[in-house]
Amino acid sequence: MKQIISAQRKFFTTHQTKDISYRVSQLDKLSKTLKNNQDALDKAIYDDFKKSKFETYITEMALLFNDIEEAKKNLSHWARKQKVSTNITNFPASSYIIPEPLGVCLVIGAWNYPYQLSLAPLIAAIAAGNTVILKPSELPSRTSAIMAKLINDNFDPSFLKVIEGGVEETTELLKQKFDKIFFTGSTKVGKIVYKAAAEHLTPLTLEMGGKSPTFVTEDANLKMTVKRLVWAKFLNAGQTCIAPDYIMVDKNVENKFLELLIAEISEADYSFENGNYLQIINDANFERLSSMIIENKICYGGDTQKSKRYIQPTVLKDVTFEDAVMQEEIFGPILPVISYETLDEAIAKVNNLTRPLSCYVFTSSSKTKKKILKEISFGGGAINEAVMHITNPRLPFGGVGHSGMGNYHGKAGFDAFTHYKSILDKPTWLELPLKYGPYSKRKLAFLKWIMKF
Ligand code: NAD
Repeated sequence: MKQIISAQRKFFTTHQTKDISYRVSQLDKLSKTLKNNQDALDKAIYDDFKKSKFETYITEMALLFNDIEEAKKNLSHWARKQKVSTNITNFPASSYIIPEPLGVCLVIGAWNYPYQLSLAPLIAAIAAGNTVILKPSELPSRTSAIMAKLINDNFDPSFLKVIEGGVEETTELLKQKFDKIFFTGSTKVGKIVYKAAAEHLTPLTLEMGGKSPTFVTEDANLKMTVKRLVWAKFLNAGQTCIAPDYIMVDKNVENKFLELLIAEISEADYSFENGNYLQIINDANFERLSSMIIENKICYGGDTQKSKRYIQPTVLKDVTFEDAVMQEEIFGPILPVISYETLDEAIAKVNNLTRPLSCYVFTSSSKTKKKILKEISFGGGAINEAVMHITNPRLPFGGVGHSGMGNYHGKAGFDAFTHYKSILDKPTWLELPLKYGPYSKRKLAFLKWIMKF
């Protein structure tokens, strides 16, 4: 590890990564490597958790290719020196900001979208001109191995290197000095990473999770609501950081909503064979999720098969905030539904929990929409839609409070790996004597007149 970091540091000081053409060539190489090895990438993710080619394309590869193209298209603009006006105090001078790469970066990935969550931050880091060490999650072992092979076979390790491993290797990596750490994962491990980063005063982005609420109000278009909601919730078998975690539904439409919700899930016919459903990642998560299913509150589903790590899409009703399923992020295919009598009461309940990564509002009332957006703090979200906000690279993606710190995607990703160096550039042909001694009342009065305060 130390050797790789020191080789990357040495390479960074050659300033090659600062050339836009170098960054573009590395992004092109990454794009080509992924395209040329699509079959191997598809096989690895299928072996890890039965993810189909279709879902792999729409939730992993398409987003990555989009990020690469977006970065290539905008890179010269993002990385340009930006002129700003100069204040009167500094007359005559010019002022500008130089975006510069931070240096040697560590990207730590999570398991649930193993390609997207490891490679999207990596693309941003390369675009911004850094060198990168990527540590993917060890849980989906085949996807971790294929990323390590493809990257380590195709890239110079002093520019880009994958180091595989779990807690032990990550702990060791975190002892080293980096110029930026980008972490995706749980709030619990996020705190560990934050402490380690503090030791070297390393800037940090934390992309974490939380319980993302979904509001379904009395005036919502229920048919469209369940269509969009069901897709978003059971995508990746609910193992999505921005999945709707639980539903807050207006009591007046609860029965109708549940009826339509169940019809929609049945019609989707989730199964491994259909390619629209995934295994739970491992036994520990299977056990954790199974224990959240409250027998007498099952309104749909509830079937589990340990040998296949299968949990049927499950809807729970009459759930309370005291139930086990409401004590932590679900991160699986269980959907608790809680009814409310007044929106104020529902908002208060949601605000009692830590600030979530996402929030979704299904309503046709712009007043309700505005009220929720104003009164609840969360990372990002959607109105009459769920999850899809992540696909717009113009929307910075990230959490707030317990769900995260910092943003990425598109320009926000470039910013996450960039230092903005501010320069005041002064000519020598004029020097006003104002700031120099001897100080006098007249000078002070003149200064106050110029400054206007
Ligand atoms: P995790 O925190 O267990 O693991 C994340 C990474 O940290 C892995 O690479 C792992 O090897 C490493 N790690 C684990 N324990 C460690 C330790 N003690 N010391 C140092 N490193 C350690 O998270 P996970 O299970 O991979 O992912 C699930 C969580 O991630 C959920 O909370 C989910 O909401 C969140 N998540 C957030 C986003 C986002 O973009 N905000 C995306 C996906 C997942």
